[in-house]
Formats: sequence, structure tokens, C-alpha cells
Amino acid sequence: MRMSQMLLQTLRETPAEAEIPSHQLLLRAGYIRRIGSGLYAYLPLMWRVLNKISQIIREEMNATGAQECLLPQLQPSELWQESGRWETYTKAEGIMFSVIDRQERQLGLGPTHEEVITAIARDSIRSYRQLPQNLYQIQTKFRDEIRPRFGLMRGREFIMKDAYSFNADAESLKETYSLMAQTYETILRRCGLSFTAVEADSGAIGGSASQEYMVLAETGEDEVLYTEDGKYAANLEKAVSIPPDADPSPFSQYEKRDTPNTPTIATLCKFLGCSPTTVVKNVLYEATYDNGKLVLVLVSIRGDQDVNDVKLTNVLSEMASHYGENALLGLNVPDEQAQKKWAAQALPLGYLAPDLGDDYIQSRKDVEPKFLRLADETVLNLKNFITGSNETGCHVVGANWGDQFTLPDQVVDVREAQARDRAVHDPSQHLKMARGIEVGHIFQLGTKYSQAMGATYTNEQGENVPLHMGCYGIGVSRLAQATVEQCYDDDGIAWPVAIAPYQVIITVPNITDPQQAKIAENLYQDLLNVGMEVLLDDRDERAGVKFKDADLIGIPYRLVTGRSLKEGNVEVVTRADQSSQDIPLEEVVTTLQQWLANK
Ligand code: ATP
Ligand code: MG
Repeated sequence: MRMSQMLLQTLRETPAEAEIPSHQLLLRAGYIRRIGSGLYAYLPLMWRVLNKISQIIREEMNATGAQECLLPQLQPSELWQESGRWETYTKAEGIMFSVIDRQERQLGLGPTHEEVITAIARDSIRSYRQLPQNLYQIQTKFRDEIRPRFGLMRGREFIMKDAYSFNADAESLKETYSLMAQTYETILRRCGLSFTAVEADSGAIGGSASQEYMVLAETGEDEVLYTEDGKYAANLEKAVSIPPDADPSPFSQYEKRDTPNTPTIATLCKFLGCSPTTVVKNVLYEATYDNGKLVLVLVSIRGDQDVNDVKLTNVLSEMASHYGENALLGLNVPDEQAQKKWAAQALPLGYLAPDLGDDYIQSRKDVEPKFLRLADETVLNLKNFITGSNETGCHVVGANWGDQFTLPDQVVDVREAQARDRAVHDPSQHLKMARGIEVGHIFQLGTKYSQAMGATYTNEQGENVPLHMGCYGIGVSRLAQATVEQCYDDDGIAWPVAIAPYQVIITVPNITDPQQAKIAENLYQDLLNVGMEVLLDDRDERAGVKFKDADLIGIPYRLVTGRSLKEGNVEVVTRADQSSQDIPLEEVVTTLQQWLANK
């Protein structure tokens, strides 16, 4: 491609809208353009990168026997009603864009494709002889993200590779899942990324085991906890650990104490001169279910620990049927306003005890009349603990389960693991924290969708049983930007060769010098003839501008037809380390061929 003919606009200034380096650089180097919130145009350079990533994905997926297809982006709401996700996706999470057609029928714009693919499997898979199957597509997804940001990292429209496997049983699903895990590692390695696989929460997609692929970067939105021996890594949402041991309580007698102005753990512990590990903290939540029921939840957890909202959401989602509901719509900490909705009297917030009376709840049919009391595992073995008294300005000390308080029936793990906690697999190791960008996610879904939607097959014994499913996603456009986040310097982007938009750029310092222009033109043709992807900077610009642009755009190898021509050489600069060497003109093509072959 001749740059004189290209639609390319590079910017010297950093655009104000971009906060992180990869976003700034993709805008500055003319790869993307913002069209609206979370909506980006992939300009020609970007589109080449995305196609390269897609090609690597295709090659590796095809090598496993997976088959490419393309599913509709407009999806009838009926399919989502069948799986029970219409409400959660359009209302609770609100992540799905929905439209109404001229016949007043409701449709959703695909944020993911479990429903569509399960409907296909239901019609076309009859017998165990057809199994296993794995279908994938590379396509634009739509998600009405709460906070679209960081350019392609969190768009409202983005490109994803999603694959769905159908297996005869859990065993076979595990095989496909681990084949996909290996394939993901190969794909990411080929793209030139350094990454970590971590245990993950399955979220609204559902299912049991799931694993995410994280590109470690300071600007990543996810937090990863890991151990240095490489044996444990998990998303913070999912991570487990052994908390620090509790200190002995300084109190041995049960009594009520005046503790004025101590609504927080810090103020209380300072006042009483005790450790937060000796306190039982009681945190109030409002859980809203899909048919409109409100359940007040009181979580008792050790004072030095915090509730992990994702874990709590999972616990409460599982309890939906207990309240005659299908799904949890929302979880929040009640504010003054919210309390007015259901509180029968002013709550002693900051001084709550595990036995806060149910008479604090107004008797209303859309509100569950009793608190759901949950005890996190951390409070189980506390002795002589300190906790609230349900009276503002007072706490009790020296309390014990079974004496002054009844331990809640439900003991759960809703604690957020923290850096420096001990690792479960080896308590001599301590967890470390790193930030990551989630570029891929694989799930064992099991029979969640097949059961709900009636996708069954006849097994070897002649029984009709539900298909086991897995799903496997890679954020193609996010991966492209995550690569930049890992591969840049002060001068611009430094693409790994495998996904660079072009492999080589020929910079002609002075296009009005006929010798320079002629040699560059010949080189350009020679490189194209051997199948290389080449940019020829034949613009009538100052040399400095061209060098700056070449660095910014980040093409792996730059050939300069400048001063070294006098000795019959071309200067070859490697973008990644800016190293430069002179290579005889007639050896340039073969040298580059060799370098690329070695990559
Ligand atoms: P996140 O937790 O970041 O919101 P997710 O867990 O909802 O992502 P999945 O449903 O697992 O995402 O989708 C598969 C992949 O698609 C993700 O691993 C990620 O790489 C990519 N992806 C998801 N949401 C977006 C988005 N809004 N913009 C760009 N890529 C996305
Ligand atoms: Mg995910």
C-alpha cells in the first residue's frame, strides 16, 4: 500500500477522550475513530489487525475440528424466554439491547449466542453418533454496557469469537474444555501476548467451571490473585484464600458498652482498643427478585473482611426459587431513601447486631417479612466477639454464638480474598495481586441451556437425555487493543509481527530524490512479489514526519532508503527495540524473509 494514497490521519496530540495508553495510541495512529459512546469505526489499519487475529483464531479452532458458522444477530425474545434469560438480560443486567419490529414482536441484539445455538442443536442433534460437536463464529456482539470505556476494551459493539460445544456427558465436555484451554493458549501465544489463565466466576452465563485468559497490564479492569509457584491464579470475583488468624478477644465477660460515634470498624476498634478480627460486622443488603419481591439480607462477617458482591449475588441467585422467584434482579446496600420503602422504624445503621429484629421490616406483600441471615465462614469460630447492639452508640463485647446470639442457619463463603492472604493449596504461600485485561473466557455450561430449552439426544442406551454444553469466547477487538497495552513505548505502538497490519514499511526520506524514490519503488515491488505485506511511505513529507509516523503506527520493520544507499545499503530498523543495521540492497528481501520465518 502506498501511503500517499491511504486514508490516514495521525495526531501529534493525545486526544482528551482517551485515558489509557492503548486507547490514546490507537486514536493517534489512526487505527480507530469514535462514532458514539462505546462505538468505534475500525479504520483500514485496524481492520487488517483484526483480520490477522481472526485468521489465527480460525486456524487454531479449525485444527481442533471446530466448524465455523455465522448466527443471526437479531434474536427473537421467545428464545430468551425459553432459557429464562430475557428478564435478566433486558432488565436486571440490562445488558441486552432490545427492539420491537413492525409486527410488535420483541427481539434482542445478540450479546451472546447460547439460546440461538441451543435451538439449532435441538433441531439437528438426535443421536450420540453425532457427538461431540463444536461450532464457532466471529462476529459483532452488542452489549449496553453501563460504562463503555477505554476504546475497544469495553465497547457497546465489539467483535467476539464465540464457540459452543455439544457433548454426550460431563466427561466428554471436560475433554473439549481442556482442548479449548490448550487452543486458547496457542492462539494468545501466536498473537504475541503474555497472559495468565485464571479461575473465574461464571456470572449470568451460568454453568460450573470457567476460566479466563488475562493479559496482565496495570490499566486492566480485572484484579487477579495468584501465587508465585504458578499453581493458583483466580479472578478476585472468584478467588478463595485463608484469611489471617483472628486475634484473641480482649473481653471475657459479656456486656453492653457505650461506644459513642463508632459506626465504622475503624472507629470502633480505636475506641475499644481491639483488633478488627475480634468484631462481627453485620452488613445489610436489599435483594430484588424478578417478580418484584424484596428480600432484606443481613450478612455477618469478620470485622477485618469485606463481602464479595459477586459471591453474594451467586448465593442469592441460587435462593431465588426459595422465594418463589426465578432470578435475582439486583443487589444493593440500602440508602436512606430505600429504607423508607421497607423499614418500619429508623435502623441503627453502624450498630447492627446479628439478631436485628424482623419487626424492623414493614409488613408488605412485596417485602419478605424476615431477614435472610447469612454468616460468612470467618465468624464461625470467633469467641468473645464484639458486635452491634441494635442501639445507636452502643456495642456488645464478649459475645458468643449459642449464648447471646444464634449462629445463622446458612454459613456461606462470601468473603473477598485479599492480597497477602494465605493460599489454600499451600498456606506457606501468600497471594499476590495483579491487574489484568480479560481477553478470553471458557465455560463448562453443563445442561443449563439444553435442559431449559429441551435440547436432548438419544444416548447409547436409547435414553433421551440433555446435551452437555460448553462455551468459549475471545474478545477479538479487545485482544487487539490489549496487545497495544502490552506493546508500546514513548514513540508509539510496537506490534508483534504476527498481528501487525503490515510487516514492513519503506520510508523514503526524500521523495524528490529520484535515486531514493526508484530504489524504494523497486524494493516495494520485490517485497510484494515474495508475498510480504508492505507499506511504502511515498508521501511528500519531511523525513522527520515520516519517521515519527512509522514509529507511531508500529510496523515491525522499517527500511530506509536514505544515506546508506551511497554504500549500496539500506538501513533496517526493528521497531520493537529500535535497533538499526545496514544491509546490502540485494540481501534485504532474503534477510527479511528469514527474520519473518523465524518469528
Ligand atoms: P467483562 O467481565 O469484561 O464485562 P464478560 O465476562 O461479560 O466481560 P464474556 O461474556 O465472557 O465477557 O465475553 C467473552 C469475551 O468478550 C470477554 O472475555 C472479553 O474479551 C470480550 N468482551 C466482553 N465484553 C466486551 C466489551 N464490552 N467490549 C469488548 N470486548 C468485550
Ligand atoms: Mg467473561
